[in-house]
Amino acid sequence: MTTTLITGANKGLGFETARRLVAAGHTVYVGARDAERGRRAAEQLGARFVQLDVTDDTSVEAAAKAIEADGGLDVLINNAGIETRGEGNSVPTAATVTADQMRNTFETNVFGVVRVTHAFLPLLQRSAAPVVVNISSGLGSLTHLSDPDHPAHFYPGVAYPTSKTAVNMLTVQYAKAFPDIRINAVEPGFTKTDLNGNTGTQTVEEGAEIIVRMAQIGADGPTGGYFDINGSLPW
Ligand code: NAP
Repeated sequence: MTTTLITGANKGLGFETARRLVAAGHTVYVGARDAERGRRAAEQLGARFVQLDVTDDTSVEAAAKAIEADGGLDVLINNAGIETRGEGNSVPTAATVTADQMRNTFETNVFGVVRVTHAFLPLLQRSAAPVVVNISSGLGSLTHLSDPDHPAHFYPGVAYPTSKTAVNMLTVQYAKAFPDIRINAVEPGFTKTDLNGNTGTQTVEEGAEIIVRMAQIGADGPTGGYFDINGSLPW
């Protein structure tokens, strides 16, 4: 039996990933910062609920203790993420971005990944086939954003892409340090969720596909990579 934790799984891509992995036979923990939203989602999915705010040490440590006491963890999906908005709901650009907006974004998207990974590493190391999936973004690709011929080049935001580039580097460094754990970053693609005011062009079913796939790779699968549904992406 495979036990899987998904952070921020009460809605969006995390919720859809949970649905698919429950169907695939995983025991799934829906991590959610809000107990009511999390419990409701877990109930709907036939999953377990664990209170988990990725910005809060106490919450993350308690979640790790609870899951350890229940028998441990095989798959960690670092999915919780935010896109900080500025005035008029616009994304902070090079002309407007503040240190506070950067800190706010990094607290969830980067430090959250480190906080949760740090807390769950001892559990993963006791698993026979441990896997970590970090939900990055195509906007984290330095190669694509610096290429005038790539559509992502025209995305003006600073805080969110920078945070996802940091997630990519975390993926590289963790994967090298823990060769027995399959650790990859994934880009779901532009998906209709609350994160982008439901402007995404893909459904959550399409977006979750690469997450579900990388959550199920075996011990002979890739590690330290960056993937979308079509294969490897340039960093
Ligand atoms: P979403 O529908 O807004 O879901 C985000 C989830 O993260 C929610 O469950 C939210 O919980 C949770 N969350 C936020 N802050 C949290 C915290 N401090 N602790 C715990 N949970 C927290 O967005 P989504 O599109 O599914 O995003 C999922 C991931 O995919 C993110 O990492 C995002 O950057 C990435 N991504 C999305 C797209 C896209 O086009 N949608 C593209 C590339 C990458 P609440 O309900 O409590 O707010």
